[in-house]
Parts: sequence; structure tokens; C-alpha cells
Amino acid sequence: MNINGSCQCGAIEYQVSGELLATLMCYCTECHKVSAGYGTMTVLIDQNNFKLNKGTLKLWQRSSDSGNMNRAHFCGDCGNRIYHQNPDKPDIIRLKTGTLGNSADYTPQAHLWLKSAPAWVLIPKDTLTFQTQPPLANLLALIKEQ
Ligand SMILES: [Zn+2]
Ligand SMILES: [Zn+2]
Repeated sequence: MNINGSCQCGAIEYQVSGELLATLMCYCTECHKVSAGYGTMTVLIDQNNFKLNKGTLKLWQRSSDSGNMNRAHFCGDCGNRIYHQNPDKPDIIRLKTGTLGNSADYTPQAHLWLKSAPAWVLIPKDTLTFQTQPPLANLLALIKEQ
């Protein structure tokens, strides 16, 4: 399965193939900034399954509260965030679903950082929720069990 994606201005085009490892919704305050809204949806994929077809991504990085580096790859023209990657664990990239061609087709398997979610957010029953965020390996294991 191939899925095409692009940034808001079209300078960046990419393709995703293979299996999606997880679909996550995050309401942390960093994601408020990234989305200029209240959170972001992300699919985790193997970095080998991401192919940049057009343009050059710009890089901005910060260290998270847990001490991990978080590298943000984005369009230098329109500023649209495409994916995040931890340089210490580069095998998995966290792609922002809003830039995918079928962006409305994703349903979160887990909701993270409810602690900073707006009070009006409604989470479907029987969905994994976390006040903050568990380590990635634990989260993937919990999603598999569902
Ligand atoms: Zn752009
Ligand atoms: Zn977040």
C-alpha cells in the first residue's frame, strides 16, 4: 500500500509504503504549537518506508522533558511539519497524518497527554488513554494487545 503526502504549499511531496505501526493522537502542549491548534495525529512508520519525492525538508530540533532529542522535519516554504524523529532511535519516524492525501482516514489507537487536552475533547470508549505518555516500547505493546 502506497500513500502520497504533501505539505500545504506543495513544495514537499513524499510517499509512504508498508505497514503503519501505530496511530496516535497527542494533546501535549508542544503539539498545540506544532498544530497551532490543540494536538496532532501521528502515524508511526519504519523510516525505510518513507520516500521524499520532491523538495528538501528543513530541520529543527529540541530536547523533550524526558531528555530525548526530537527532530522536526518541515517544509521551509510553508512551514508545514511533516515528521518527527528521535536521532537516538531513527528507525521509527512519527509522521503527521494531516499531510497525507487520505488524512481523514485515521483513527487513533491511543490518546496521549490528556492532561493538557481541551476539556471538550471526547474520547471513544475502549480507547487507550494516558495522562502523559508511556515509553514507546510499552505503548506499542499495549496497542498490540488490544
Ligand atoms: Zn510547503
Ligand atoms: Zn504531543
